[in-house]
Amino acid sequence: SKHSVAILYIATGRYTIFWDHFYKSAEKYLLPDCDKHYILFTDSDDLIDSFKTQSDQVIALKKEAMEWPFCTLMRFRFFLDAENIIKQHDFVFFFNANTEFLSTITQYDLLPLGSHENLTLCLQPHMFHRNREKYTYDRNPKSTAYIAYGEGKYYFTGALNGGKSEAFLDLCHTLYNNTQSDLKQDIIALWHDESHLNKFALGREDIKILPPYFTRGEREYWKKTSKLMFSDKSHYRFGGHAYLRNET
Ligand code: UDP
Repeated sequence: SKHSVAILYIATGRYTIFWDHFYKSAEKYLLPDCDKHYILFTDSDDLIDSFKTQSDQVIALKKEAMEWPFCTLMRFRFFLDAENIIKQHDFVFFFNANTEFLSTITQYDLLPLGSHENLTLCLQPHMFHRNREKYTYDRNPKSTAYIAYGEGKYYFTGALNGGKSEAFLDLCHTLYNNTQSDLKQDIIALWHDESHLNKFALGREDIKILPPYFTRGEREYWKKTSKLMFSDKSHYRFGGHAYLRNET
């Protein structure tokens, strides 16, 4: 039988503008060989209402909008709030809100199906070719996301990640606890959830690693092999980056 996959998607505040692009392209290209179920975290009553009639493939959970960077840092709390739903699926994946799929992604492309694999992470496309001393890991020894110079082999993006449900929920528990103990000390890791993700991945051997050009920016047309793009948040059709983050 087909693998069942939960797809996690956060769109609070003005980021709800991305949902339709994401959903339409996912239905066309994402894991056509799997059973897909979407879990949408949003503060938009309009969006939530639209699913009451439209679809039982989408579960929308109401979440209050938070200021930057809490809207991204608190993702692990959101995901844990859906723990019982996630557990009903074999695999679970998160995608940034501005994701648009460009060509077919099969289970063999994305899922950690190898015998030693539990999680799938993707190399950050602007970091992989750099000297690892330049990786933007969190370098504050007081943070639970701290990685010392000389450590770490890869720099993973926070924009796309997932895995077997049990392994991903384990990640969420650990990283929620880590972000909370940082916050108690007034610490926020340099790149928020991404810094914590990289700490979690440090030294692990059970990660399926997606190549850096698996994803591209909207305008990076020369990356012909990319299967998904992150649409340009500063594009006028979305109102500009500051507008999106509610800074104007
Ligand atoms: N996000 C959101 N509302 C906001 C800001 C962020 O829902 O006002 C979520 C959304 O899922 C987004 C993710 O947090 O994709 C990461 O934020 P963003 O894409 O702005 O981070 P960047 O990739 O620019 O670091």
